[in-house]
Amino acid sequence: MTASAPITQDVMTLPRKLPEGGKTNLVGLTRDQLRETLIAHGTPQKQAKMRSGQIWQWIYQWGKRDFADMTNLAKAYRAELEENFVIEIPEVVSRQVSTDGTRKYLVRIAGGHEVEVVYIPEDGRGTLCISSQVGCTLTCSFCHTGTQKLVRNLTAAEIIGQVMMARDDLNEWPEPGAPKDETRLLSNIVLMGMGEPLYNFDNVRDAMKIAMDPEGIQLSRRRITLSTSGVVPGIARTAEEIGCLLAISFHATTDDVRDVLVPINRKHNIAELLQTLRDYPRVSNSERITFEYVMLDGVNDSDEDAHRLLKHIEGIPAKVNLIPFNEWPGAPYKRSSNNRIRAFANIIYQAGYAAPIRKTRGEDIMAACGQLKSETERARKSKKQIEAEAGIPVPPSS
Ligand code: SAH
Ligand code: SF4
Repeated sequence: MTASAPITQDVMTLPRKLPEGGKTNLVGLTRDQLRETLIAHGTPQKQAKMRSGQIWQWIYQWGKRDFADMTNLAKAYRAELEENFVIEIPEVVSRQVSTDGTRKYLVRIAGGHEVEVVYIPEDGRGTLCISSQVGCTLTCSFCHTGTQKLVRNLTAAEIIGQVMMARDDLNEWPEPGAPKDETRLLSNIVLMGMGEPLYNFDNVRDAMKIAMDPEGIQLSRRRITLSTSGVVPGIARTAEEIGCLLAISFHATTDDVRDVLVPINRKHNIAELLQTLRDYPRVSNSERITFEYVMLDGVNDSDEDAHRLLKHIEGIPAKVNLIPFNEWPGAPYKRSSNNRIRAFANIIYQAGYAAPIRKTRGEDIMAACGQLKSETERARKSKKQIEAEAGIPVPPSS
């Protein structure tokens, strides 16, 4: 692979098809947009703020999809809403449950495209891994999603809709009047499914604002983590406009190797990325940046790599999350041995950083990190093509 090879694959960018029927979907609108939409459809200006607040709570706090259930609104007004609007979330096409309790959903969005959503239950909490795009325009050579040729940005409705869908499935909408249950099955969100969230910034931001709204799903900003491959211009905006936690798909300690594993490195190299992270505004020191590091046998897993990684993160409040590589059909890499991963983790840990090794979840249903790729995608690449594009990186010679 030459340094001038394109960063983006030859993808087909799909236009977003509007749902039929002409009714406006209220899901995914910001509070302001919701109010304006109601006004545009005849709600008197003076009432709009209060009405939109009531509707907001019905949708996001109580999980209602039917205007008839919105009992604090006049009957005639409910009928009016029904005529003009829908409350619509992606449709679940299939649902698989792993032996470890992990749930993988395939959901269909407008235009018939499909994305995957994964729910990972843990003791006293649960994490939902959501997608931000159908496919991904980036081509990280170890990632299954990166081999998918069709790409479309999800709308804010389709992003927050994944969270609403999971709450439906977990049966976790509160009952009005019932005592508030503080332990949540769905307590955390990670933007680590399909797609590069910072290439769909506005929709991701609007959806996460809805997830954090105190009169709705009410997740704290500290329970939302956005993972990026290193889209530098979007990183400061994440702090300023979303305020959630940040994870960086770092994966390599030299530009030569990172250029191949995470090709956006050719646009924003390691030095530039690290400078951006050093400047990253944080509210407190407890908000560390997670460096995700996939362990690939013989490619990025040497002791030298671990030491170089430590040098890179010096001065950044960081933790390192080691991800054993999850294989997928045709993948051009192997997972590092457990001993190698432990030795690597130990070097990081000895230097005073947390270095957890991510437990692989839902592997039996192909729900683990980097295995996601919807089956709707027809233009499959061959193993040979994937290998040729990956270039099979050589480990650094140091
Ligand atoms: N596009 C974003 C978020 C989605 S990928 C990003 O790249 O950060 C979520 C995480 O899964 C990333 O850290 C990614 O590098 C990792 N990942 C991708 N493929 C993987 C695989 N086959 N095995 C293990 N982790 C993988
Ligand atoms: Fe896209 Fe992230 Fe996969 Fe890279 S790792 S191809 S950025 S989804």
